[in-house]
Amino acid sequence: SRPFLDVRDLRVHFQTDDGLVKAVDGLSFGLARGKTLGIVGESGSGKSVASLGILGLHRTHRATRIGGQVWLDGEDLISADPEHVRRLRGQKMSMIFQDPLTAMHPYFTVGAQIIEAYRVHNKVSKSVARARAIEMLDRVGIPQPQRRASDYPHQFSGGMRQRAMIAMALVCNPELLIADEPTTALDVTVQAQILDLIRDLQREFGSAVIIITHDLGVVAELADQILVMYGGKCVEYGPAEDMFLRPEHPYTWGLLGSMPRVDRDVRERLNPIAGTPPSLINLPSGCSFHPRCPYAERDGIPCRTVVPELAVPGAPGVACHLPQTTRRATFANDIAPA
Ligand code: SF4
Ligand code: MG
Repeated sequence: SRPFLDVRDLRVHFQTDDGLVKAVDGLSFGLARGKTLGIVGESGSGKSVASLGILGLHRTHRATRIGGQVWLDGEDLISADPEHVRRLRGQKMSMIFQDPLTAMHPYFTVGAQIIEAYRVHNKVSKSVARARAIEMLDRVGIPQPQRRASDYPHQFSGGMRQRAMIAMALVCNPELLIADEPTTALDVTVQAQILDLIRDLQREFGSAVIIITHDLGVVAELADQILVMYGGKCVEYGPAEDMFLRPEHPYTWGLLGSMPRVDRDVRERLNPIAGTPPSLINLPSGCSFHPRCPYAERDGIPCRTVVPELAVPGAPGVACHLPQTTRRATFANDIAPA
């Protein structure tokens, strides 16, 4: 049977003056309730666009073409009526962004915005909604929630604003929560607190959670599965522990290398990935990672001409032409800490 969220061959392409951007080009994964998926990649890998595609927000762009299927609780959001999908947003699924100021209105109090988010989907009186808003502010750890509800977003610190946005995103008990770089703008201590908070709330509400990040370290503690994106495609997908203990894709090795480690010796042994992510308009031929990959064309594998695919889309796997034995041996001998 279908998982709670079942994404099949999702494609999000949009036309720009410079050409067709294939921001997401064939993404498949499944996610159960109560589980967390980390989608990881550098900026420009298509990971944010993928989340907008799942939420149906791509429709706001007229030049966007979307393909594939996004089944949420047995219903395909891609072919569903846009008005229906709009109602599901905020109610059944909601999103936390990196910058709460993009999601919150500067001229309304924090409390008023949470009340509004609640009343859009629930026929309740203002006082009931207000009580609910204050309860949520309390739940996300905002001190004196009664008083703080009357403050404007700019009167909150960055970390408190992020908590308020989480309160707003969770006020309707969404079954799917997508957090896009939820902690990137915050200092390390607050970052850890926000991640703990997301985990606690997830346990309490049993939601499916997708965390989108450029930093593998952010999802190390939180994710059950990890999906690595590069050039609009999934290059490696699997259970989180495998991705940290025995990752097989050279790009994932690079991401691990740029992960902050406590152990100095480890960091020195791993090199961050040289070069820059490709343009999603003009992807390199074959494996789009080949210009940056130290293993490209090794032993005659066709990295420059043939696009490597996952063996089974949506199942754990690696999109790389290196034979599996070579990938495993290379990681074990050259990449992994001794
Ligand atoms: Fe590197 Fe080739 Fe594998 Fe791409 S397919 S990651 S270029 S070895
Ligand atoms: Mg992004």
